[in-house]
Amino acid sequence: MSYIEEVRESVAARNAGQPEFMQAVDEVLLTIKPVIDSDPVYKHNAVLERITEPDRQIMFRVPWTDDKGNMRVNRGYRIQFNNAIGPYKGGLRLHPSVNLSIIKFLGFEQIFKNSLTGLPIGGGKGGSDFDPKGKSEREIRDFCQSFMTELARHIGADVDVPAGDIGVGGREIGYMYGQYKRIKNVYEGVLTGKGLTYGGSLARTEATGYGLVYIVDNMLRADGKDIKGMTVAISGSGNVAIYAAQKAAALGAKVVTMSDSNGWVYDKNGINLDVVRDIKEVKRGRIKEYAERVKSAEYHDSGKVWVVKCDIALPCATQNELDENDAATLIKNGVTAIGEGANMPSTTAAINAFQSAGKLFMPAKAANAGGVAVSALEMSQNSQRLAWTFQEVDDKLKGIMKGIFEKTSDAAKAYAKATDYVSGANIAGFLKVAQAMIAQGV
Ligand code: GLU
Repeated sequence: MSYIEEVRESVAARNAGQPEFMQAVDEVLLTIKPVIDSDPVYKHNAVLERITEPDRQIMFRVPWTDDKGNMRVNRGYRIQFNNAIGPYKGGLRLHPSVNLSIIKFLGFEQIFKNSLTGLPIGGGKGGSDFDPKGKSEREIRDFCQSFMTELARHIGADVDVPAGDIGVGGREIGYMYGQYKRIKNVYEGVLTGKGLTYGGSLARTEATGYGLVYIVDNMLRADGKDIKGMTVAISGSGNVAIYAAQKAAALGAKVVTMSDSNGWVYDKNGINLDVVRDIKEVKRGRIKEYAERVKSAEYHDSGKVWVVKCDIALPCATQNELDENDAATLIKNGVTAIGEGANMPSTTAAINAFQSAGKLFMPAKAANAGGVAVSALEMSQNSQRLAWTFQEVDDKLKGIMKGIFEKTSDAAKAYAKATDYVSGANIAGFLKVAQAMIAQGV
């Protein structure tokens, strides 16, 4: 049995019942095979056994009270996966689907994504199975404060720096930051995605979506294509989706779809983002309201956006939202490029389908790294006690995304196929972390 197979078997045996985590581990282990086979140093240092086992897994009770005065309990998580190249860094997800498998897959992916940014950040992730949908302001605040009351013991600006993810935006970060400060009595960059009045970075809100479009643009150009005039299908209507749509439109593309967990809209004239932002960012409403407000739009409460004919598909909702049937439909309709805005939004079978059909496919670890990259820039600004302009941050983000594309593409050329960006991203991300782990001993 090869070293990779041995590790896969032992990881599977020790993490039974964690399908998302195994999916993420399998993808990495299978694609880094040429690197592992090329040098016994990885086996000698047990790099694969170590990189697949989190440094620390913290699970805790989060008690809070609802508006009726009932005591409620959720489970909180923080997985500190790997700090070989910097403090643990990664978001917090609040969603009823959250469990150990999901937080571990997200934390594992974060190691390689963060490495690709070229910035000194390790990998971690956290969250809770708390469902923010339909909760009042007070309930959200109470939950966030209780969550931080325990989390505060485990994090710090040089230890572990959480941020937002699904269900955690500026509001939640604000409540958590306030609670951290009360408990620790230190004013430090312990969270990113903070508000602009208390240490947040300009362009952090836009960063994941903008970064996604920048790297897709790089990928298209390398293939002699131009995003201008292309039709784009986007799923989701959170931060990533909204700012990907804004940047794609700014570069001359037409975005025709958006979705949420209830349904999706198709607007043949191109999505009006002012309306989406008002619904989602101001009113915290449902995407259905878009079709009530915009005449050219139609609303569907079943199916997925991928039935719409498009040149570029940007899945920006959640894991495994795009399966092999969706991939087949997109391929049949002549899709040119796919860029993953969400974490692991395509199933393994969907990725295989895109790659065998010769489609340009940019995986999440590279494609959505712009968000965490600007989080790292927020940490730099906090350490310097300075605030950069929007332009400065956006220019750095553009440079970082170009760098990620080049690293990914160079690794693909060296170890796999020139346009196998899945292998390229995994290999380039892995090499830096592995070298750091080996250099530091156990
Ligand atoms: N949750 C985001 C991600 O998946 C951002 C994490 C961060 O900014 O630390 O990369």
